[in-house]
Amino acid sequence: MARVYNFSAGPAVLPEEVLRECADEMLDYAGCGMSVMEMSHRSSVFQKILDDAEATLRSLMGIPENYKVIFTQGGDSLLFSTVFMNLATNGKADYVITGNWAKKAFQEAQILGDAQAVASSADKNFSYIPDCSDLPIRDDASYLYICENNTIYGTKFPELPNTKGHVLVADQSSMFLSEPVDVSRYGLIHAGVQKNVGPAGVQIVIVREDLIPEDLPGVPTMLRLRTQADAGSLYNTPNCWGIYVCGKVFKWIEKSGGLAAMGERNAEKAALLYDFLDESELFSSPVERRDRSLMNVPFVTGDKDLDAAFVAEAAEAGLVSLKGHRSVGGMRASIYNAMPRAGVEALVAFMKDFELAHRA
Ligand SMILES: *Cc1c(COP(=O)(O)O)cnc(C)c1O
Repeated sequence: MARVYNFSAGPAVLPEEVLRECADEMLDYAGCGMSVMEMSHRSSVFQKILDDAEATLRSLMGIPENYKVIFTQGGDSLLFSTVFMNLATNGKADYVITGNWAKKAFQEAQILGDAQAVASSADKNFSYIPDCSDLPIRDDASYLYICENNTIYGTKFPELPNTKGHVLVADQSSMFLSEPVDVSRYGLIHAGVQKNVGPAGVQIVIVREDLIPEDLPGVPTMLRLRTQADAGSLYNTPNCWGIYVCGKVFKWIEKSGGLAAMGERNAEKAALLYDFLDESELFSSPVERRDRSLMNVPFVTGDKDLDAAFVAEAAEAGLVSLKGHRSVGGMRASIYNAMPRAGVEALVAFMKDFELAHRA
């Protein structure tokens, strides 16, 4: 068996320890004589898996009592609509456009009501985070929406926007559990787990309870946050297997020292790569220094053919999924929690060799 260093943006690398545990329990989970995949979601065994996952997540993030945690399905993209339908109580919300995912959330909101963009970094191909200290947020906007870490462009909000008293909603998909966050500063956080915490098919919503409407005329049952919040994520069949794996990853993070330790490790890993990019004469980072993501690191040589050669040769060396997103080009290394420091070291060493071989 040969494991590679997998730099995919998502679905992405998971801790090897967790994968092994899942393999060990595949045919017989905790003496039940069946796999978690085969088990009723109404069984007490699964209820415990779900309760433990939520409890560990709450403890990791320090989620206050007055917030609900919901495990849901439909893709993080469905939450773009769900958020607007549930939180834009007067049909108005404002958005900061920092890349494709923010734009998609904004476009969904426009289908459903009155959404306005209050800042954008489209002028420089989303290579920075706009100044959010004095945004023209409408007084009657229900919330301000951000995509806090931009998976494709490799930017992250260096600080949260000044919301001027408005509720803050954040898509944290590609930074979820990568560092400590103060949940109380948000009205709602949502994340697809396939970037940093689990297999595709689960999304997590953390929402302040008073923001969940009791009644939402005209909104389908499955799209009301109230439905899953009241049913403890068991209104219908959840992604049982996905939640089980997430629970294991939460435990792994806890054992590894929690979010503070994750944040430190991730900052060190990212620094290895950024320091090299800043001194390299071949590779460079297209992202404004202060807005750089710790999770997704795009880089370019400026020469398409050389970029393609790099991606191909890296893959032969066991460093895979480094091709950049088509809207940025070049390369992108996603270095999520489960990417060991050794993987980033191997990447930097490979880049150094490549640079020596290809520098004019
Ligand atoms: C991947 C991603 C999404 C989309 O997730 P799906 O589950 O594929 O719908 C949304 N937002 C961000 C920030 C992402 O990285």
